[in-house]
Amino acid sequence: MIKENLKNLKDLITTGPSGSGLFAPDQENLLEPITNLKVEDDFERCIQCGYCRQVCRVYNSTFNEMDCASGRNRIMKSLSSRNIDFDKEKIIDSIYRCMLCGNCHEVCPVGIDTLEVFHNFRRESVKKGVFPEKLKVLRDSIVKNKNPFLESGTDRFNWCSSDTCKEGYIAYNRGKELSEKIKSGLVADNSDDLVGYFVGCTSAYRNNELVTSTSRVLDKLGVEFIVFPDEVCCGSVLFRTGLNDDALELVNHNITMIRELGIKTLVFSCAGCLSTFTKEYTKYAKGNLGFDLYHLTQFVPKIAKEKNLTIKYRKRTKDNPLVVTYHDPCHLARYCDIYDEPRELINMIEGLKLIEMKHNKKMA
Ligand code: SF4
Ligand code: SF4
Repeated sequence: MIKENLKNLKDLITTGPSGSGLFAPDQENLLEPITNLKVEDDFERCIQCGYCRQVCRVYNSTFNEMDCASGRNRIMKSLSSRNIDFDKEKIIDSIYRCMLCGNCHEVCPVGIDTLEVFHNFRRESVKKGVFPEKLKVLRDSIVKNKNPFLESGTDRFNWCSSDTCKEGYIAYNRGKELSEKIKSGLVADNSDDLVGYFVGCTSAYRNNELVTSTSRVLDKLGVEFIVFPDEVCCGSVLFRTGLNDDALELVNHNITMIRELGIKTLVFSCAGCLSTFTKEYTKYAKGNLGFDLYHLTQFVPKIAKEKNLTIKYRKRTKDNPLVVTYHDPCHLARYCDIYDEPRELINMIEGLKLIEMKHNKKMA
């Protein structure tokens, strides 16, 4: 019976799948911010229209008003005006049961920067001692092992050996040699063409295929690159969960390491690492990191064009292409505003044909 009611409730409050509500997927916010509010206080402008409910996958699973942007904004307003007390037990789920996907921002008619608001809500909550027990395990692993997977820091480069990935192995040794040179007091005098590849924890410990394939692609493109033997977690998990203070040591370590090695171009295969460098690292470096950031899906078409290279998918032909689609990752798309280059890359590959999904780009 309760299940039946929930189904009816869902019919009542949604008009279809995520992104198919009153706003067309490519519709811009109707109004730009018109107040002098600090962006983290943007929740004050929420008009409780409820459009964000329709695109929130969490809300559409729980049907709990506290889980969508409108409900969370209402809680923050009430806390701000002291209409309710900060009751840890009651609001901890609302604070953390959000994927920070940013879909709600895309449909919000008043343009509330929900991502900034919700990140700030977490930061402020951490200051009040509100932090889920389960996340403490991740936090402790990052602080101790410099990765969130409870793995030993010394195993970070187990993926690269002369047998498993010779391209990565060469890049690792190149990075090690350069790093030792700097540590012995010499100054980096490498060419600006030397590229740094920031591997990231997920590729290093869990998704080795991503790092080995990326190494092979860079090598095939004729790019001279290094991986960083002293690389540590980018801190994304800490920033997403409101633990900015814990993340600062990682930020300082990685920025210093990259600068000291004289790297001017940094490539990522992980959208999460790239967005953390683009958003948080750039902010902490006051807009001047000293090196350029590229996701692999940006870097490959750039190099292919510069070198006039043709890329082919050999199992198919131009006339009989493999039909593929592209899912815009939250961190690459809504966080970094990268939509075109990945599509450009797919369209560049002879033997592939790109078909778009209905809910793509900003509404993916
Ligand atoms: S960021 Fe995503 S998960 Fe969080 S409230 Fe908005 S739509 Fe829902
Ligand atoms: S769409 Fe924007 S204004 Fe409307 S309820 Fe959601 S956050 Fe508030």
